[in-house]
Amino acid sequence: MIPMVDLKRQYHKLKNEIDQGIQNALENAQFILGPNVQAFEKETAANLKTEHSVSCASGTDALHLALLAAGIGPGDEVITTTFTFIATAEAICYIGATPVFVDIDPKTFNMDIDAVEAVITKKTKAIIPVHIFGQPVDMPRIMQLAEKHGLQVVEDCAQSYGADIKGKMTGTFGIAGCHSFFPSKNLGCYGDGGMITTNDSSIADRLRILRNHGSFERYHHNIIGYNSRLDELQAIILRVKLKHIEEFNRERRRAAHYYSKQLAGLVTPPQEDGIGTHVYHQYVTLTDKRDAIMKKLTENEIACAIYYPIPLHKQPVFAEQFKSLSLPISERVAAQCMALPIHPELTNQQIDQIVTVIKSAI
Ligand SMILES: *Cc1c(COP(=O)(O)O)cnc(C)c1O
Repeated sequence: MIPMVDLKRQYHKLKNEIDQGIQNALENAQFILGPNVQAFEKETAANLKTEHSVSCASGTDALHLALLAAGIGPGDEVITTTFTFIATAEAICYIGATPVFVDIDPKTFNMDIDAVEAVITKKTKAIIPVHIFGQPVDMPRIMQLAEKHGLQVVEDCAQSYGADIKGKMTGTFGIAGCHSFFPSKNLGCYGDGGMITTNDSSIADRLRILRNHGSFERYHHNIIGYNSRLDELQAIILRVKLKHIEEFNRERRRAAHYYSKQLAGLVTPPQEDGIGTHVYHQYVTLTDKRDAIMKKLTENEIACAIYYPIPLHKQPVFAEQFKSLSLPISERVAAQCMALPIHPELTNQQIDQIVTVIKSAI
């Protein structure tokens, strides 16, 4: 049995430290915005080389709160990729803005930046680039485009914790970077969790108020806010894992590069464009023999998945609104993409086993 991610095995490697930390916190009994949440925010800000880290309850909330803090609202258009998880678009809809979907680059699966420029209108207020599967979008180009048109940039870093472009981390280019700590993410906790990074102090202040019932001082409420805080127990788990994130990301890259060597000629391995460092939150291949391969993998107790089977403009929730929109590259990629297991603990021997099964299916 080879799972997509091996959270059990990772827990056992970190068990002593995690168990001890949780035990201490239970004794300490400061469960909301406690010392571990505060320490985690400081540690991630240092780790990502950003001024502020503001934690919250999920990656979805991080996007929602970031758009609110950036002053995006009803009537505004926000450009994003159609090839992402639904949460990117949900956040745009929560604030009453309109998502504008663009197609992707067929090699990196990231948003096609030429296509972004083509859909900018007078109503456009922001761009949400998504560093899909852990490969950074060309942020210098996005920032140039945003400056030229006076747009805000909110980065979706839910899959790219620790990815960088020449040493500058994803989540530090735009006005805000939105991170998710969903268990299967490359930095994940044991429940839901999220965070926003920003170099703008006024955005950070607004985020801290928004996540905590519109209140900075207890029982003084300045605006209508939300209950969206990172849990103290999750912060403990994240602090332990944060110490290993470089190693985890390095091991993901090792596994991905080994896969790509072994899979050459069988399926199309994911491609790196060399702009930044791909951290391989997911290892996504392309193949026209997907059904046959996935059937064989499943028979052999090897997990596999489709990220993503339906681009957002074709999702039932958006299909009517975007019925005349055709984004052919994402539609083709959705029909051919196949994600294979990837996690820091995945051994080259396990990869050999997976490749042997794929060979037999072809
Ligand atoms: C996981 C994910 C999110 C949402 O994060 P949650 O913590 O699950 O709310 C947003 N965007 C992308 C691209 C994701 O992969």
